[in-house]
This record gives sequence, structure tokens and C-alpha cells, in this order.
Amino acid sequence: MSSSPVRHRTVPVRVGPVTVGGDHPVVVQSMTNTDTADALRTAVQVAELARAGSEIVRITVNSEDAARAVPEIRERLDAMDLDVPLVGDFHFNGHKLLTKYPECAEALAKLRINPGNVGRGSKRDAQYQAMIETAIRFDRPVRIGVNWGSLDQELLARMMDENAQQPEPLEPQAVMEQALITSALESAAEAERIGLPHDRIILSAKVSGVQPLIRVYQDLAARCDYPLHLGLTEAGMGARGIVASTAALSVLLQQGIGDTIRISLTPEPGGDRTQEVSVAQEILQSMGLRSFLPSVVACPGCGRTSSEYFQHLAQDIQSYIRQQMPTWKQHYPGVEEMTVAVMGCVVNGPGESKHADIGISLPGTGEQPVAPVYEDGEKTVTLKGEHIAEDFQARVEAYIER
Ligand code: SF4
Repeated sequence: MSSSPVRHRTVPVRVGPVTVGGDHPVVVQSMTNTDTADALRTAVQVAELARAGSEIVRITVNSEDAARAVPEIRERLDAMDLDVPLVGDFHFNGHKLLTKYPECAEALAKLRINPGNVGRGSKRDAQYQAMIETAIRFDRPVRIGVNWGSLDQELLARMMDENAQQPEPLEPQAVMEQALITSALESAAEAERIGLPHDRIILSAKVSGVQPLIRVYQDLAARCDYPLHLGLTEAGMGARGIVASTAALSVLLQQGIGDTIRISLTPEPGGDRTQEVSVAQEILQSMGLRSFLPSVVACPGCGRTSSEYFQHLAQDIQSYIRQQMPTWKQHYPGVEEMTVAVMGCVVNGPGESKHADIGISLPGTGEQPVAPVYEDGEKTVTLKGEHIAEDFQARVEAYIER
């Protein structure tokens, strides 16, 4: 019997060559931070994200220059043989851009519309309708993405007023959460009334707090069968962003909620944008929902390790595997399922190495300067000398080839 969580039932939605929802694996997404008007830099960053494993990439389309650049970005990706679907992120001027530059809509695989940020009053309805009609015309799916920071203020005011009339009013926080959900569901119903098919809609309702995010998505999942895009918005930098996103998304994924995820990390200045992709992959892989890379099991190290040597080896092996993966994936199907152990001493080293497909137990303080290697649970060789790292790397490569 599978130990994976039972997925919340959703309707599959095609996004270019990728399907989101239904029984399809949870999809990893990311977003560029380049100026979309700079087609070359944006295409380069989309390519980096796609090669790192992002299966869908979103780009902002916030100006006429950006809208004009979208077809060129698509062409550049096609020339690199990358069919990663592009999603256009549209806000208050989206209706104008999509009407004036239909080739932009054509080059995109999906439109993301934030219903809280498409205008006010009667204008809002007409502008929203224009964007949905473009999606219908080009047969593109739409992600209706509501966000805590840009919640429809008219809807929120109405719901706050209604709540105040209740004999037992809810806390303002609870009303805001309900307003987010209502905005997503009412906007989806409106899109369907305009003519967008049910199986062309994905929803998201992002907030920046872990507990509110869990509550909002649990409620949303209970009330609809649209695929859900998960993400903690403004998760933050470094460990804070990674931990908060992991905490929130893991709870939901374990409950079978979520068909696609994005980890919104604030990169360090000049930092690597692809980190959000590797974190998303690590979450899905460590939960046993998907396999992307061979797992490297490494002990944390302690006073028994004779040096930091083993940490470097674990790091080198991890980087080497990441580098080799695109090639290995083509030649060795199933390679992402394997486990490599790099252990610091004899206490847990042999045991953990035997459980892995291939593992090495490095010498700890006071131990003989030798490193036994285990393959499929059996000791196959003992490495010694200056080149243990290179020799072990070669054994990993040979193991994969076999
Ligand atoms: Fe320490 Fe050895 Fe355990 Fe690693 S395997 S944490 S070095 S006791």
C-alpha cells in the first residue's frame, strides 16, 4: 500500500506541455526577477530556472515593452530547445496589454490574474472580463491568484460590514481570510460565466503567515475542485523563508492539498535565483512525493570527525550529482531514486552506508585512515590516501553506469 497522502481531488488543467492537478505530480514553479522588457536577460534566467528543474516559469508583464518582449523570450527559449511553459503575470493594465499585443497572449501558456489588482468598481468588471476573454480566445488557462497584500478592498469592506451585523462577529483576521477565499471563488465563478471552461482555471490565495496560509488553503480545498497553486508569499530571506515555506507547504501537501508549488525566497543581492527551485524540489522529495535527484545522506558531524574533510566531501558529492543530473537523467532512467551516504566515522558510518545504494564511511578521530565503501549493502572497496574524494566520485559514477 502506498504511504503517500491521498490527494485532494482536482480537475487537471493543461499548461502548455505540463498538466497541473488531477493525478499528475505536484509541479514546481518559479518566477523571474529580470525586467521582462529585456528579452535576452529574461530568456537566460528562464533557461537557468528551467534547467534547475522549474517546470513552469512566470514572468511579469507590467508594461508595453514587457508585452512586446514576450514573443521574443518564447522564441529564444524554443531556440534553446526548452519547452518550459511561460506564465504572464498581469495586474491593473493587463487588459490593455493583452488587447493591444495579442501575440503576447499567444506566446504565453497561462495568464495569471490578480482579481484584487485589476481596477475598481465597474471598470474592474470590464477589465477582468477583457483578460478572461483573451484567455478564452487563445484557449489559455488562467491562474486566479489572490494575495493578502492586494486583496479586493471593496469585497473586504463589504464582508467586514456584514460581519459587524452578525450577533457573534468573527475576528477581523478571520474575515480577511474569508475575503481571500471568497475573492478567489467568486472570480473563478465570474470567469466561468464569461465563458472560461472549468478545466482552464487554477487558484491560489497567498498569505505571508504559516497558520493563515494553512487555514485558507484547507478551506479553499474543501470548497472547490480547481487545482491549487501553493506558496507562502513574501516568505523572506535565507533560513527564515525556507523554514516558513517548508512548514506551511508540508502540512498542506501531507493533507493532499496542492497541485503546484512555488517557494518565494528573497535572494541575497547577486544570489542564485535557482535556490527557490531546489528548495521546492527538496520539499517534494523529502516528503516522498517526487524524486528529482539522488539523495545524499550525510551525518551532521561531531567531535569524532577528524576534520571538516567529510563535510567537503558531502558538499562535493551533492554538487557533482546536481551537475551531472541533466546527462544522467537522459541515460540512466530512475537514477533520481538512488541514495548516496557520506558518513563521518565508524559509529553510524557503516550502518547508514549499507542502507544506501552506495556509501562511504570516512575515518573519524583516532580511526585507521581508511574509508570503506559499501555498494548495495556490501563492502566493495576500502579507499585510502590523498584522493579519497575523487576515488569515491568515480565509484559513484561507475555505480550509476552499472
Ligand atoms: Fe559523529 Fe560519527 Fe555520528 Fe557522524 S557518524 S555524527 S562523525 S558519531
